Amino acid sequence: MQNKKSKRANRVLVVGSGLGGIRAAIDLAEAGREVVVVESATHPGGLMTQLDRTFPTDNCDLCSILPRLSANGWRRRIELLTMTRPTSVKGEAGRFTVSLTSSPRYIDLEKCTACGECLRKMPECVRFAPGLNFFSPTCMRYPQASPQAFSIEMEQCADPGLLVKSCPANAIVLHDGEKTREEVFGSIILAHGAEVFDPSGTGSLGYGQHPDIVTSLEYERLLSSSGPTQGKLVRPSNGRQPSKIAWILCVGSRGLREHHETYCSSACCMFALKEIIVTKERFRKDIDACVFYMDMRTSGKDHELYYLRAREELGVRFVRCRTRNLIHNDKTSRLSITYLPDRDSRVDRRLRHGGSFHRFQNLRERPQAGANHGCRA
Ligand SMILES: Cc1cc2nc3c(=O)[nH]c(=O)nc-3n(C[C@H](O)[C@H](O)[C@H](O)COP(=O)(O)OP(=O)(O)OC[C@H]3O[C@@H](n4cnc5c(N)ncnc54)[C@H](O)[C@@H]3O)c2cc1C
Ligand code: SF4
Repeated sequence: MQNKKSKRANRVLVVGSGLGGIRAAIDLAEAGREVVVVESATHPGGLMTQLDRTFPTDNCDLCSILPRLSANGWRRRIELLTMTRPTSVKGEAGRFTVSLTSSPRYIDLEKCTACGECLRKMPECVRFAPGLNFFSPTCMRYPQASPQAFSIEMEQCADPGLLVKSCPANAIVLHDGEKTREEVFGSIILAHGAEVFDPSGTGSLGYGQHPDIVTSLEYERLLSSSGPTQGKLVRPSNGRQPSKIAWILCVGSRGLREHHETYCSSACCMFALKEIIVTKERFRKDIDACVFYMDMRTSGKDHELYYLRAREELGVRFVRCRTRNLIHNDKTSRLSITYLPDRDSRVDRRLRHGGSFHRFQNLRERPQAGANHGCRA
């Protein structure tokens, strides 16, 4: 018995550094355990670092998560490995041998001062992805990101030699490569979070065909002061503020079609309400907001009050229906939604939205950690 105990490893591996992973790591470290956190993305924080506000308090998202993520916030017992994922696991509870594979960053973290010269001179070489596919003015994944360093997309870089010269700190490592190391852990926590549903396949809803049709995460990026518009609510098509916005819920969930999930993501109703409340309160109360939904699932404490606030105080319209399709009129630049209303499914109604955003939202369960998939953040 004594012998068996001594073979148990004390260290814990946490896969994923979103809010769930960070919370687990801090709790474990406080309980005296050595923790290694692996994060496949370039920086820790997961989805929350890309949002604007958090329901139901509408607090600033980064303000709540950054103290936990800043370099000082990581306790002595926690080692964070970014751009790293587990690629094989052997053994059993109490003693797992795990291969951890790190992708190349092409930047020496010791030397990089995060001055941003590489991004300014060679923007196509520097990796930055969250939402809307254009560079954030604050350029790293979020301000105060830890490690405070960029990462290089070498395949996108036409002139690596010039990139090396652009760095005053000589921090670019051209011949960086994938590295794998084996480590032993007593337990593993999978906190790899959720993946955002990609609505490109839902052709009838027009995502990818018109720039003003955006996903919920892209909309959060527009609202966020660290996002591509520095928090200005504008239509990607013309840079003007929209006067009407429609939210389409349940896209990709509770469906029977291929690539759709059958379950409810359980978060989208609430974060759609949050986006509407923030939009109305921060920009203009008279922005016409309309929600196309199947059921309003406000199951948490006081969540129903949040819904009532949007409906009663802010005059948001809620249309219970099945959304059919989205049509763009090239002449008027208007987007229209056709839908089957709940009460009379024989009637095909059409609602016109003069130059509005149309949004989708959904989260799907993430496949098992270690499987070959990327963070779509
Ligand atoms: C548009 C939108 C708005 C939202 N608004 C709110 C809100 O207002 N309030 C609220 O409470 N919640 C909100 N949510 C939900 C919230 O973002 C999630 O509940 C929260 O981020 C979950 O944290 P997590 O740690 O479980 O996962 P995530 O934040 O998804 O983090 C998981 C991490 O694991 C990493 N990872 C994944 N696979 C691997 C692997 N194989 N190896 C290593 N690392 C891996 C990922 O890169 C990621 O960093 C919103 C979500 C979305 C999409
Ligand atoms: S130019 Fe060099 S030091 Fe400055 S951010 Fe880029 S890699 Fe880091």
